[in-house]
Amino acid sequence: MSTKPSIHGLLLDELATFCNEQKLPAFRAKQIWDWLYTQRVSSFDEMKNLPAPLRGLLGEQFVFQTLKKLETKGEAGETQKLLFELADNEWIETVIIPAPRRQKNTVCLSSQVGCVYGCAFCASGQKGVIRNLSAGEIVGEVLEVTRELGARPNNVVFMGIGEPFDNYDEVMKSIRIMNHPDGLAIGARKITVSTCGVVPGIERFSEEGIQVELSVSLHGTDDQTRSCLMPVNESWPLDELMNACEAYTTQTNRIITFEYTLIKDLNDSAVQARELVKLLRRFPCRVNLIPLSPVEEFEGERSTPEAMKAFFQTLEKAHINATLRDSKGVGLKAACGQLRSRRL
Ligand code: SAH
Repeated sequence: MSTKPSIHGLLLDELATFCNEQKLPAFRAKQIWDWLYTQRVSSFDEMKNLPAPLRGLLGEQFVFQTLKKLETKGEAGETQKLLFELADNEWIETVIIPAPRRQKNTVCLSSQVGCVYGCAFCASGQKGVIRNLSAGEIVGEVLEVTRELGARPNNVVFMGIGEPFDNYDEVMKSIRIMNHPDGLAIGARKITVSTCGVVPGIERFSEEGIQVELSVSLHGTDDQTRSCLMPVNESWPLDELMNACEAYTTQTNRIITFEYTLIKDLNDSAVQARELVKLLRRFPCRVNLIPLSPVEEFEGERSTPEAMKAFFQTLEKAHINATLRDSKGVGLKAACGQLRSRRL
């Protein structure tokens, strides 16, 4: 595996520092970024206005392509799943979810190879974690999707494989690169980081001063149910998690979206709906109800449409802003919780 850093993992400032160290004119950094993120070329050789020796130097110092696309599943214009091989032969998956009526393309990014948290119903963490993705690899996912779509995606969610707060620094760096007006210029509010409830990550995220959205995967309204579904609850139980969420909301003035996957007879009862209302009444927030996607290692079943509707209505009646999401991509195994690092 190459030990060279990825050119897509550098902030503009870092590239400027590199140019400075190499005694290159300061404008070169922006020129290179323009080739990377506006022109979106696929090699250093295509950076036509750079002198050949500089192109050679960049090639010696940096890797250009960090992901190799092995497979695209699904039709263009519909949900698609891309399988990538990384330089060390690990595999990750990335999903494109278009909403043509709203002229919106969402990309669902992976942040790690595998996941350490092992939620019972999620395929991504069934065999643990191998490693973090680098910022360059994460930006690479967005660029590959951009190539596939012929345009930049306008919505980015860290809801693929991995726990973004377990790879905090590289995830934040990739966000700064995609958000930068000279980078991919994707608006901060169009980027969502989703956590399974890693409290130190939420606390750190409160301090970022960035308008990126935060989602928290909840899935249970009492410690026993939540710990059984999400072992992470043993480390940061509900009380601690909700305190951190409240503190985040107060400090940032931003609204958290809670993800709640409905599982038949496990967390979808009328009592649990009312418990959820109680839990969330403390501060403004939103709830995304997700139907369970089938995962072979998990025996739970999707809630009935009636139970889902009743659960939704309880939240609505309590004036909690809720959506009942339809799950996209189940046929491709590209829906919530179905992604895998396939070598694991
Ligand atoms: N690790 C982060 C990012 C993954 S986001 C997190 O947990 O938030 C993926 C979302 O899908 C999470 O809310 C996750 O709990 C949910 N999910 C996982 N498996 C699922 C399944 N089988 N059906 C529906 N949702 C699932």
